[in-house]
Amino acid sequence: MHIQELVLDDFKSFGRETHIPFYEDFTVITGPNGSGKSNIIDGVLFALGLARTRGIRAEKLTDLIYNPGDDDTQRAGPREASVMVVLDNSDGTLSRSQVTTAAGTEKVGDVDEITVKRRVKETDDNYYSYYYLNGRSTNLSDIQDLLAQAGITPEGYNVVMQGDVTEIINMTPYQRRGIIDEIAGVAEFDAKKESAREE
Ligand code: ATP
Ligand code: MG
Repeated sequence: MHIQELVLDDFKSFGRETHIPFYEDFTVITGPNGSGKSNIIDGVLFALGLARTRGIRAEKLTDLIYNPGDDDTQRAGPREASVMVVLDNSDGTLSRSQVTTAAGTEKVGDVDEITVKRRVKETDDNYYSYYYLNGRSTNLSDIQDLLAQAGITPEGYNVVMQGDVTEIINMTPYQRRGIIDEIAGVAEFDAKKESAREE
């Protein structure tokens, strides 16, 4: 399974619908400082629910909505941003996955293409965050359960951020082994064992 395409709309510096293709083995994004490279990665973390706002360099969710600045005309209606991640599942990684959406429990993984989308909307006095799986409204925990089947977790090292490498180098061997446990999927069982012991 791999990311096939990212669709950003009014997310951070992407003030209009932007489609970014990803290839199966290797994709490099280049550009000048401040051109939005890291914002693309922030978009992936936002849509897949893999990071808190600080991890995507925003104080609050609504900071993620495109801000046209002073010299642009005010846009009418509630402000909102969205990011959709299109996953290529043609290798069947998520073939037996079931999720509960607003429409009830259904199989999502029997298709070659899976989409995960998140929207944040700001109204006069509040803001709202919505998740969608294959176009149907769902919640974060179902998205996380689905992605966990492909080894994608918020604690995981699927995304290695700037500074992570230095941090890993400066760790003690014991702490570093913790990372290997995490990647190998052993840490999850250690945590479950620990909580079972406490009961
Ligand atoms: P570098 O090479 O320095 O790492 P980069 O290509 O990773 O740069 P980003 O950090 O992705 O750049 O983009 C930063 C830009 O995004 C800044 O100019 C910032 O003003 C802009 N930006 C962030 N949030 C918003 C927003 N909500 N609306 C408009 N622009 C935004
Ligand atoms: Mg950057």
